[in-house]
Amino acid sequence: MPELPEVERARAQLEQGALGQQIVAVDDRDTYVCRPHAPGEIAEALTGATFTAAHRRGKTMWLDTDRGPVLGLHLGMTGAIVFGPPGPTPHWDRFTVELAGGTRMALRDKRRLGRAVLDPDLGRLGPDAAEISRDAFRTRVGTSVVPIKARLLDQGVIAGVGNLLADETLWRARLDPRAPADTLDEAQLDALRRELRAAIREAIALGGVHTGQVMPARSRTGSCPRCGAPMSRAVVGGRTTYWCSKEQG
Ligand SMILES: [Zn+2]
Repeated sequence: MPELPEVERARAQLEQGALGQQIVAVDDRDTYVCRPHAPGEIAEALTGATFTAAHRRGKTMWLDTDRGPVLGLHLGMTGAIVFGPPGPTPHWDRFTVELAGGTRMALRDKRRLGRAVLDPDLGRLGPDAAEISRDAFRTRVGTSVVPIKARLLDQGVIAGVGNLLADETLWRARLDPRAPADTLDEAQLDALRRELRAAIREAIALGGVHTGQVMPARSRTGSCPRCGAPMSRAVVGGRTTYWCSKEQG
């Protein structure tokens, strides 16, 4: 499932492949992926325009155009941005844009949980997890009685952290995922933010959240890659969570 690092790579793909080229045609007939728009509505808004910038906050991406309308894209659970030659649309391409340079940009999404939408509402998203300031992190993340892991996963608090990145970050910071967020002191919150940023940087460089250090330990018989203690496992924040029984207890 794409988390911030995967989406940042997709944004970079859009930046490299889609900017500066006029939009020749748009296939927006998948009314579920393109909800709430009617078929043709996105096409009408975008055809003839040129993408001018590719942005991201958390797991949401958006492309500015020279005519005003903004195209929002979300990868959902299994989506990816794919560039290829124009031609018949492969089965899992839910939304496609043909560009004047001769390429076709597609949201390829087996499970169909991605989104393409005009002028996406970013108001419900917290600050991006890779860019949130120290003070904002302390006040947004650290002032709640819910488990710290649930707080990290709440996209309205901080945007971009999914299940694997949350576990990786808490393991790096040696913090119990079940601890109420407001029991962490400022030094712990600052350390958590540092480890989050470092985990994001490494995941972007190495190809995604699956490259995390704690990934191989995510099993019933897993042991901590740092100290060798057995990993604990439980549902925290609604998601299956692994943590070191010795260092994060
Ligand atoms: Zn350990």
